[in-house]
Amino acid sequence: MRGHGQRNGPGWSVRTLPNKFPILVSEAPRAGMERALSPDRRPALGTSEVIVDTPEHDLAPWELGPGQVKEMLAMYQERIQALAKEGRTSYVHLIRNHGTGAASSLEHPHSQLFGLPFIPPTIDAELDGFVSAHPGEAGCVLCDIVRDEEETGTQLVMTSENFVVFCPFASRLPYETWVVPRRHQLRFEKCRELDDLAEVFTDVLMRFKERLNDPPFNYWVHTYPVSGESRPFHWHIEILPRLTVPGGLELGAGVWVNTVPPEEAAALLR
Ligand SMILES: [Zn+2]
Ligand SMILES: [Zn+2]
Repeated sequence: MRGHGQRNGPGWSVRTLPNKFPILVSEAPRAGMERALSPDRRPALGTSEVIVDTPEHDLAPWELGPGQVKEMLAMYQERIQALAKEGRTSYVHLIRNHGTGAASSLEHPHSQLFGLPFIPPTIDAELDGFVSAHPGEAGCVLCDIVRDEEETGTQLVMTSENFVVFCPFASRLPYETWVVPRRHQLRFEKCRELDDLAEVFTDVLMRFKERLNDPPFNYWVHTYPVSGESRPFHWHIEILPRLTVPGGLELGAGVWVNTVPPEEAAALLR
């Protein structure tokens, strides 16, 4: 740990605070609920937290340094485990928005945590995707992709002892990049290779800055839902530079038009 303090104590290096403008609260108002026509309506119950990545005010994500990034990742893991113990949360979503083009609202380096009382649709679809890639048999599509990338390298950005970084097939936006552990593992919060992950993550963000000219970006951790372990999954981090603005086709039909093929994107970031 850098500095003298505990993670959430005096002289802190990374700390967690309740979000001042929460979209999810522990006692949600039910106003308007009776008017909702969907059977799937529910109050915005849950947890909104801000994770302050560093006490220093002006650092860009690639300037935090691997030591501080490791502290931040360790805090992500701690908060997932703490919310899992509380028992009210189904999924913990951890994100960072960087730059005004990526919905960042606060200058000080920070990540956000959303403790959701349901499994979000994107995770649900990914869980289904793991099953349909290996119907009725054991196997993991992300392990397949990692193996394939290591063999062919056409969409590979970089590798380390424990991680593989690549631009995925059918990327939604130009330069979409995934960081995936080589070792098959359901849960991000169980990852013990944080030193390596922090080095890799810093390196990738530095490449974004240098080769894509400091783009706004979003990243998020995709990990297994809080409870149960019956479905196949393989945790990963997705990073989306925001160089183009999704339009009516993307938002209205869920059809993503990407003008930079992942092979070209990977070649630039390599
Ligand atoms: Zn796997
Ligand atoms: Zn994912």
